[in-house]
Amino acid sequence: MRSSSPTPGCFTFLRRSKQDARPTSQSEVPATKGAQLPAHVPQSAIHTPPAKYQHYEPCGCGDMSLGLHNLKLADADLPPYRATEPFSADVRETIRIAIDGYAPALTELSLYIWEHPELGFHETKAAAKLTAYLESEGFDVDHKYKDLETSFKATYVHGSGGRTFAFNSEYDALPGIGHACGHNLIAVAGVAGLLGMRAAMQKHNIEGTVTLIGTPAEEGGVGKGILLERGGYKGVDACMMIHPGGMEGATGMGGVVPTLAIQTIEVEFFGRTTHAGAAPWDGINALDAVNIAYSSISAMRQQMHTTDRVHGIITHGGDAPNIIPDYTSMRYYVRSQNAKALVVLVDKVKAIFDAAGLATGCKVKYKTDRMMYDLRNNEPLADEFAAVMADVYNIPTKVAVTDYSFAGASTDFGNVTYALPACHPHYGIPFDAGRSNHTPEFTERCRSPEAFDLTYKFATGMAATGARFLTDAKWAKEATKWWKDDMDK
Ligand SMILES: [Zn+2]
Ligand SMILES: [Zn+2]
Repeated sequence: MRSSSPTPGCFTFLRRSKQDARPTSQSEVPATKGAQLPAHVPQSAIHTPPAKYQHYEPCGCGDMSLGLHNLKLADADLPPYRATEPFSADVRETIRIAIDGYAPALTELSLYIWEHPELGFHETKAAAKLTAYLESEGFDVDHKYKDLETSFKATYVHGSGGRTFAFNSEYDALPGIGHACGHNLIAVAGVAGLLGMRAAMQKHNIEGTVTLIGTPAEEGGVGKGILLERGGYKGVDACMMIHPGGMEGATGMGGVVPTLAIQTIEVEFFGRTTHAGAAPWDGINALDAVNIAYSSISAMRQQMHTTDRVHGIITHGGDAPNIIPDYTSMRYYVRSQNAKALVVLVDKVKAIFDAAGLATGCKVKYKTDRMMYDLRNNEPLADEFAAVMADVYNIPTKVAVTDYSFAGASTDFGNVTYALPACHPHYGIPFDAGRSNHTPEFTERCRSPEAFDLTYKFATGMAATGARFLTDAKWAKEATKWWKDDMDK
C-alpha cells in the first residue's frame, strides 16, 4: 500500500497544516444564506439547469506551470504505488504494442488539429477528423453527442456484460494562440486509450465496454458539465483523461494532484444619471458601488484561505466624467479548494455586492455561470496508473490527490470526478522556462516529437488502468468504494 503522504518539504508542510484547518465536512461549513452544498450523485442533481452553452470565456483550464511549478522529479521518489499485486504484464504489453502501432496515424491526426485551432463549441474540424478516423477503425460513433454540435462518443463492446470504462478527449484551442494547452495531444491520447484497450479486450478476451467521449469547450465553457447534465456519462463506471503541461523540473514525469473549483460571477449596479457638476445630489452613482465592492473584496482577501482566489475586472465603469454613471458592471472569478468551500466563498462575495448596492442606493443584479468543480482524483486509479508508468517505462508519477500546494488551475473534468470514479494525471513535456501552458511558445512545444512520444506512453498507462478496471472486479469495487467514501467526506 502506498503511504498516504510523500515526504514534504518544510513549506509544503506549512501549507498543508493550514489547509487542514479548512472545514471538510458539511456540518463544519458555516451556514451561509442561500448556500447550497453540492450533491455528488446523481449527475442530474449536481448542476443547475444548463444556460446558453454557446457562451465562451477563456478561463477555467489552468496553466500547469502555475499549478505544478514546484513539482520536482525528486518528489516522485515514493513508496511503490500498488494497492494489490501487479496487474497482468501481458495485457500491458498488448496495449503498449497496439498504441505504438497506431502512433503515426495518431500524430497525423493531432497535427491536423494543431494546424486548425478552433475555440470551444466550434471544434467542427477536429470533431469531424476524429470521428472519421474512429469510424475508419470500426468503432460505433455517436455524432453530436447529447446535442452538443462538436461532441461525440465512440464505443467498443466485447462480450455481453461487464463494466464500462471511458476516456475523454479535449480538442478546443485558445483565442489567438492556438493549441497552447496541448488539447491536440489530449485528443489523440483519448483515441490511443480506446485503441489500446480494444486491442487488449480482443486479445485477452476481456469482457466489458470501452468508450471515448469527445468533450468540447474545456477552456471556460465547462463542456463536461453540460454533458453531465444531459446524462452523457450515464452507464460509465470509471473514467480517465491525461493532460500535458510544462512542469518545471519535471519533464517526462507524471503528477496526479487536485485543481481548484471555480465560479464566475457577473454583477451589475443600476443607479441614476445626472449632471456631475450641476446637480450631483440628484444622482445615484453606480461607480461608487463598484469602488466599494472592489475595495471590500480586497479587504476580505486577508481572511481567505491560502488556496482561495478572488480576482475581477470592471467591465463597464461609466460613459463620461461629467455624467454620474447610472450603470456599471464587473466580472469576478472566485476559486476555492473544493466545491463546498467555493459555495461559501461565492456567497461572501455576493454579500459584498449587496452591501455595495445598499451603501450607494444602487440596485444590484448578479448572475453566476456553471461551476467548475475541484478535481478529486480517485486514488486507486491513480495508484494503478503510476504503477504502470513505473513498471512499463520507469517513469515516476507523483500521486498526491489531496495535496493542494500544487493547485492553482481548474478543469471541467473536476465535475466528472464528482459524478463517478475518475482520474486526470498531468504529464510534463519539454518547454521553455517560464513559458508553459497558455503561451505561444508552449503551442510550438505541443507538436514536438518528444510531446507525442510522452503522450503515447501516458496514454498506455491510462489504457492499462482501464483494462484492469474491466478485468479485476475486486479492485474495481475498491476504486468505486473509494470514490463513494471520498464524496461522503
Ligand atoms: Zn488550458
Ligand atoms: Zn488544458
